[in-house]
Amino acid sequence: MSFENLGLSAAILKAVAKQGYDTPSPIQAQAIPAVLKRQDVMAAAQTGTGKTAGFTLPILELLSQGTPAKRGYVRTLVLTPTRELAAQVQESVATYGKHLPLKSAVVFGGVSIQPQLAALKNGVDILVATPGRLLDLYQQRAINFDHLEILVLDEADRMLDMGFIRDIRKILSFLPAKRQNLMFSATFSDDIRELAKGLVNNPVEISVTPRNSTANSVEQSIYAIDKTRKSAALIELIKINDWHQVLVFSRTKHGANRLAKSLETAGISAVAIHGNKSQTARTKALADFKRGAAQVMVATDIAARGIDIDQLPFVVNFDLPQVPEDYVHRIGRTGRAGASGQAVSLVSEEEGKLLREIEKLIKRQISRNVLPGFEANFNLADTQLTSGAAKKSTGRSTNSRTKSSASGQDNKIHQRRSNKGEQKSQGGHSTSESAATNNRPPRRQKPLVDLGPKFANRAQTPKSTEPATDNKASKTRNPKPQKAQTAEGVASTQKVDPYANARLKLKSKE
Ligand code: AMP
Repeated sequence: MSFENLGLSAAILKAVAKQGYDTPSPIQAQAIPAVLKRQDVMAAAQTGTGKTAGFTLPILELLSQGTPAKRGYVRTLVLTPTRELAAQVQESVATYGKHLPLKSAVVFGGVSIQPQLAALKNGVDILVATPGRLLDLYQQRAINFDHLEILVLDEADRMLDMGFIRDIRKILSFLPAKRQNLMFSATFSDDIRELAKGLVNNPVEISVTPRNSTANSVEQSIYAIDKTRKSAALIELIKINDWHQVLVFSRTKHGANRLAKSLETAGISAVAIHGNKSQTARTKALADFKRGAAQVMVATDIAARGIDIDQLPFVVNFDLPQVPEDYVHRIGRTGRAGASGQAVSLVSEEEGKLLREIEKLIKRQISRNVLPGFEANFNLADTQLTSGAAKKSTGRSTNSRTKSSASGQDNKIHQRRSNKGEQKSQGGHSTSESAATNNRPPRRQKPLVDLGPKFANRAQTPKSTEPATDNKASKTRNPKPQKAQTAEGVASTQKVDPYANARLKLKSKE
């Protein structure tokens, strides 16, 4: 399967080729033809599967065949839960639509509304928005949805988690009834199906189900460390391994600040990113981290959600997450799009129970390592894994950079007919097939390239990709764990150079 077979025009194929993609990921192979046939789509796919191109490419194709947006009108609306994701989606739209005469814009809160108002005035073919700011703009009569052709709800499960349901329903009530609807969600929970009932019509259901959502390109390891020695241990690990671009997860905002300070004191440039920081501070922190001015970024779970930094080589769990599913999300920050990565967890005695929950969830035991000079006064017990097929990972010390890899993924794509009793949502089209590759996008064939020129009339040039939301409810939300997608682990040992791709990237810029 190649992109050429999917029915996309030369202008789009050129932009795709420039990104170095040569094979569509499973979600792309399924979603692109369905969207091009103007069918509604309901897709279960997480970040990292290539879902953004899965809806962006065919939308660009469809829009380029129609009449450009008239002044004040919007032809496609993409709703995302966070500002950060909105900016990323819009960047993808700009990248893939570089050779098309279409206009796009992104609107989200926390920044001035004026440029957004100005851009919308001229009409926008694709508008990417977070719900809060979109409602503001609509109430100011800055947007007319009467010509809306396509609605995309991205990360719908997270939208619900963050308390956006009322905003979404309100927005839906402003949209014309006749439109194409695409809904993406990590899982199809009952809540999502309920939402889908009023949204999608006879959808094609696509489910790209990783058997174990810990990517097989992520090498996981654990160090048992006394609670009070974690900062020193992290400093030691970063220094002896010469780690760069390290994303460190802290459970609390204060903990994140404290740790960033300790790292700085030890001569390691670090920034912290969390909900107490202003939009400007977060933008700057992420930009510094992305361009390498900060070696380490310490983040809380919510702040880090959705961050897609290409080929991020190292993720450290300074604190284990309270919800085991968050472990999978966290380590999903590395080893993306086929690149290799390392995920290291510093585990204190108090966190033994959390570790066991994580290992049960991912159905594997993560390799235990000892950091010389930081030997703990306790042992982390092995986790009793019930599955007969569960494997013990075989990674060695990070010092040697020889690590164990996480398990493989299910190669199956399921497209299910939802009106046959297997699913609760309204009807759907069905085919059932297996993909030959795993569910993540294939490794890029070329080094990554910088994003090309953006479209004319964009509301923002979102240099930053900040995780933030306009929704006050999210501050008090009770995070609902996403359903885990797990399966038997298949451990393997491999030697990796996590910097290989980054080096290529740098080289290409010289
Ligand atoms: P997403 O799941 O949309 O967040 O995409 C995850 C990452 O995969 C992004 O960095 C994309 O640039 C990359 N990607 C998307 N499609 C492909 C593809 N067909 N081949 C290689 N990389 C891809």
